[in-house]
Amino acid sequence: NRRFVLKQRPQGMPTDQDIRLEEAPVPQPAAGQLLLRTLYLSLDPYMRGRMDDTESYSAPLAIGDVIGAGTVCRVEKSAHADYKAGDLVLAYTGWQDYALSNGEGLQKLDANMSHPSYALGLLGMPGFTGYMGLTDIGQPKEGETVVVAAASGAVGSVVGQVAKLLGARVVGIAGGAEKCRHVTDTLKFDVCIDHKAPDFAEQLKKACNKGIDVYFENVGGAVFDAVLPLLNTKARIPVCGVISQYNGMNSAFEQDRLPLLMSSILKKRMRVQGFIISQDYADRYPEFYQQMSQWLAEGKIQYREDVVDGLEKSVEAFRGLLSGKNFGKLIVKVAS
Ligand code: NDP
Repeated sequence: NRRFVLKQRPQGMPTDQDIRLEEAPVPQPAAGQLLLRTLYLSLDPYMRGRMDDTESYSAPLAIGDVIGAGTVCRVEKSAHADYKAGDLVLAYTGWQDYALSNGEGLQKLDANMSHPSYALGLLGMPGFTGYMGLTDIGQPKEGETVVVAAASGAVGSVVGQVAKLLGARVVGIAGGAEKCRHVTDTLKFDVCIDHKAPDFAEQLKKACNKGIDVYFENVGGAVFDAVLPLLNTKARIPVCGVISQYNGMNSAFEQDRLPLLMSSILKKRMRVQGFIISQDYADRYPEFYQQMSQWLAEGKIQYREDVVDGLEKSVEAFRGLLSGKNFGKLIVKVAS
């Protein structure tokens, strides 16, 4: 059983010394347990936060822990009354080949599901996050301008497409020309701006000639600096994530920008609300799942995955997620 464990807490970008691959015997299920084989594991930005020893919404990993992750698994052996070998489940077994479970927290998936990995993306936690943050906190009205960064990613792609379905004008922000083309041509956002362009702030201003009514915050940092002066009175800002800060503060931002932020919130009477999908909206998952499955079946939502083949590539792929190398929802295929 190969498994990635946290050896030491990363300073900045996680290294191969911080997260190491170990071998252990494949565990055997006792009565009431099942042995799960990981087929797909999800790489998500929040995992970086759990590697630090700071208070957050999910408990930090301890040194020596297997890195946690949502997974799609096949039941390999079962000594549990509710499961049989061959069942497909959504689990949280982390970056490893095999794990034992007592059935707690598992969700059965349809064994004939055409894309089981979608349960980790569009139809799972990231899709749910984009949908709830936008509809419940952002509340875009027809004709309003919605801006979202990391627009080609798991959350951002859902935010923009749902905003379009609700009649908003949608401006995406993404890293590089290829991602931007995907965002306008396939995801059908009205515009997409490359945040790496030297005149990014000017381009964004031009694209938002009526200001910004909803800014769905995924990245923070320089992108937020460009967004802040464009926000309209009564703008709504669902604060979903600030990925540009996850490896520590960028030294380019030593100057204190809090006073500008606070006075902008006051003068423009904006609503800024953070949310944690699992803690704020768990009871609304069925409603989301029904709606998103329907849109997917009707061809109203496009979804792109970036599938990396092989558990051993997880650390490298995770670094890619924190530096924009992934293109779509990042998934590691561990076994077929
Ligand atoms: P993505 O699939 O969007 O992948 C991350 C993307 O972030 C990268 O591809 C890159 O896109 C962008 N990025 C990375 N570093 C930077 C940077 N320094 N500056 C600007 N952009 C950067 O990830 P997810 O969709 O899974 O997550 C998006 C956000 O949502 C994250 O902040 C995450 O923490 C948050 N989240 C919050 C949840 C909650 O409950 N609050 C739940 C799930 C996710 P590009 O190349 O286009 O810049």
